[in-house]
Amino acid sequence: LVSRKWKVNPTVIDFGDGLQVKEGEFTIMAGPCSIENEDQIEKTINHLVSQNVRFMRGGVFKPRSSPYSFRGLGIEGLKLFYEMCRAQGIKIVTEVMQVSQIAEMEPYTDVFQVGARNTQNFNLLDELGKVDKPVLLKRGISGTIDELLYSAEYIFSGGNEKLMLCERGIRTYETASRNTLDLNAIPILKEKTHLPVIVDPSHGIGIREYVEPMALAAIMAGADGIIYETHEKPEEAASDGAQTLSFSESERLIRKMRKTFELR
Ligand code: PEP
Ligand code: MN
Repeated sequence: LVSRKWKVNPTVIDFGDGLQVKEGEFTIMAGPCSIENEDQIEKTINHLVSQNVRFMRGGVFKPRSSPYSFRGLGIEGLKLFYEMCRAQGIKIVTEVMQVSQIAEMEPYTDVFQVGARNTQNFNLLDELGKVDKPVLLKRGISGTIDELLYSAEYIFSGGNEKLMLCERGIRTYETASRNTLDLNAIPILKEKTHLPVIVDPSHGIGIREYVEPMALAAIMAGADGIIYETHEKPEEAASDGAQTLSFSESERLIRKMRKTFELR
């Protein structure tokens, strides 16, 4: 069902008030790895509004390698995040980790993100297939492109056609970067499926200085949008600071991304 052979027209995801994610339009989603507090949300919203960015990312349920790391503010943090963004016309993208969270998150979520550790959580995918909210499905840490497409198939066949795919880097033998952003996946996915393809260069390379070149490369490779991490003080971020852009770096990236998209 997610194949271009089955549906020729590209999927358009409509968020109302003129906001759509689709092929031919360039989407930017930016924000911190983790939602931390009211001040952080407000400063990030101001940054995004000043740049005319309409989607803010941020996790309140964080999948951390160590159980001792910051694991997020939970549902109360999500309510605050949502209310503050809604007041400014910003849509939120936030990770859902398990089936039991869907119902409590739904009223406060614009896009459900499925993280790389849950790409093959088939029970979660089944349940998201029944939800009337867009889903951003990330590629698994060691997942193939076909496995990503089968995971997408779970959600789409369940009845939820508001689906975006996300290349976020895969684990390879390379240790010089956190992950290996698979630029190859972009043209391949664009040919195989009608779904929008969003690229995450932050997790893809894991090193702040290289997020910009990888984002621009992804756009030239055909990405429909970029999702990346930004924070007022990246070195103080509760998670993923090393790959997080400051607001001035973010501003420069946005300018370069929009120019690059026009050149395509
Ligand atoms: C994130 O977006 O902060 C995240 C945990 O991403 P991923 O699932 O791609 O590792
Ligand atoms: Mn992160």
